[in-house]
Amino acid sequence: MQTVKASLYFPIDMTDKPFITDLVRDYNLTVNILQAEIMPGQRGKSVLDLTGSVPDLEKGLTYLSDNGISVHMFTTSIIHNADNCVDCGACVAVCSSGALRIKAPDWKLEFDASECVRCRQCVKACPTKAININVFQ
Ligand code: SF4
Ligand code: SF4
Repeated sequence: MQTVKASLYFPIDMTDKPFITDLVRDYNLTVNILQAEIMPGQRGKSVLDLTGSVPDLEKGLTYLSDNGISVHMFTTSIIHNADNCVDCGACVAVCSSGALRIKAPDWKLEFDASECVRCRQCVKACPTKAININVFQ
């Protein structure tokens, strides 16, 4: 089971639809509403924690998107794929938190997830796409 935090933005014609009931009933998700501003006939927004299996989360999020609800994910983690990494240091140069380091004697990239603030600068900086975002951790 995974938990993701998502911000949802509803068009006017979706504010009176039972989308949370659908997420629970049809996609086996547990929904924790952290914030909601939804009024019939107006645009709405809410912040939710969604918990479920990765396949169910993917299907549930697709269901929301397919119905015109914009989904912004808050919960992300950074994945370093060492097989694609050439230890060039480009990501280290943009990592202000110190989560990425290259040190003697082996000069190999080290990633400390506990120091990562998820700014995503390293994802943009990596020339080999060795760093990716995982929304399900
Ligand atoms: S997401 Fe930001 S803080 Fe985390 S490793 Fe990348 S550059 Fe560093
Ligand atoms: S920028 Fe990419 S290839 Fe270079 S050290 Fe970082 S992860 Fe490895």
